[in-house]
Amino acid sequence: MTKDTWIGDVRTGEHDGAEVELKGWVHRSRGSNKIRFIVLRDSTGTVQCVIKREVVGDETFEAMKGALVESSVILTGIVESTEREHGHEVQVTSAVVVGPVNPERPFPITESAMAEAEGGETEFLLDNRHLYLRTGRMTSMLKMRSTVFGAIHSYFRDRDFIEYQAPNFVAGAVEGGSTLFEVPYFGRTAYLTQSWQLYAEAAMPALERLYTMAPSFRAEKSRTRRHLTEFWHAEMEMAWASNDDIMVHGEGVVRHIARSLLDEREAELIEQGRDLNLVARYADSPYPRMRYDEAVETLQGMGVEIEWGQDLDYSKEKVLTADFDVPTFLTHYPRIAKPFYHRPDPDDTKYVLCHDLLAPEGYGEIIGGGERTWSEKEILERIDEEGTPRDAYEFYIDIRRYGGVPHGGFGLGVDRVCAWLTGAEHIRETIAFPRDSRRVTP
Ligand code: ATP
Ligand code: MG
Repeated sequence: MTKDTWIGDVRTGEHDGAEVELKGWVHRSRGSNKIRFIVLRDSTGTVQCVIKREVVGDETFEAMKGALVESSVILTGIVESTEREHGHEVQVTSAVVVGPVNPERPFPITESAMAEAEGGETEFLLDNRHLYLRTGRMTSMLKMRSTVFGAIHSYFRDRDFIEYQAPNFVAGAVEGGSTLFEVPYFGRTAYLTQSWQLYAEAAMPALERLYTMAPSFRAEKSRTRRHLTEFWHAEMEMAWASNDDIMVHGEGVVRHIARSLLDEREAELIEQGRDLNLVARYADSPYPRMRYDEAVETLQGMGVEIEWGQDLDYSKEKVLTADFDVPTFLTHYPRIAKPFYHRPDPDDTKYVLCHDLLAPEGYGEIIGGGERTWSEKEILERIDEEGTPRDAYEFYIDIRRYGGVPHGGFGLGVDRVCAWLTGAEHIRETIAFPRDSRRVTP
């Protein structure tokens, strides 16, 4: 069975006056004994279809009357241009129900069910996520998400980056032990990967410019608007590159994502209530850079308690970014605030050559990246000073033993970028089946 006609095309007027066969789901249905109005939905939109008893006959009319919300149906009819909803209507000539809905178990997501939901509307919708995906809000979000993924692929592929995959079962941490998920692994313990980085660095001397988009896993105990336990991570790694070179690509890919959303998903952005001018600003304006020291002084000047050497947690990022109009890079964090793989700044080894890109509007950090420690001597020093056991990192040290070169990369939180650019309240709105510390179902 194929499908030739899409509701989105009916709405452009392309089929006016012609007979079409529409396949979709009943979005709304109302009517009398003689006439029934079905708003039909498919992945491209909705259109009102008019079914008259005198045209389709008793049997078909009764069947369509019994087709409850979310029944799947095939409707054949003539497209008419009207003054009413969306400017187009289909006068149905024949109709069949493909997948009925049992009247004893009607589609659960209704306005009144949401209002009455025990544990609140949010939990109700999360419990019914598999069905909630069909609603307009989720559909438009998933389309925008697809555009974001496509934009990231095209950005890197157009610049000759090679897509490369790293393992998801790993033996060691990248981002600190406290957020590692342990997995029993044939009598040993393995972990779910927090980042592809260490394995990307291994391929760096082979491919020189590489990227991925893959899930990363972090046992984030506290539930926030910005964290998932399974999130999509866009990461890149590049040989012969400085911190500045890496930032150029971080800014480049984020601006390209914003531009792609404006070009391809204007209607969906508007549907989510997003101010297009903001997205245009994020696509068109350069992203400024600020050193960590300046950020600390600024915060201290604002009366925030912060000591030099502390990492900036979200509460501080939020205050700092309150006046930012565009994403801003924070660079040159203190060496003591960052993991061993960050390269100390040769000009002043108290600092590392790194960057975080902080989004405006309170969305927090969207990119973390920088130069990697690349000489054997320096990496051993950094591992030991951190007190990290060397065993799990032997392969990582080997990369430095055989022709190490200056290199670096970044990780971008794709779901977090989706949340920010679409103006979502919560990161879980941006992904079909969000995972957090309390939920692995459905
Ligand atoms: P945060 O401080 O916000 O927890 P992080 O410093 O731990 O982030 P990195 O290790 O630098 O994050 O990861 C790179 C990017 O991945 C972050 O800038 C962020 O956009 C995203 N990210 C990190 N952790 C999560 C998470 N739990 N859920 C969603 N995105 C995340
Ligand atoms: Mg970070």
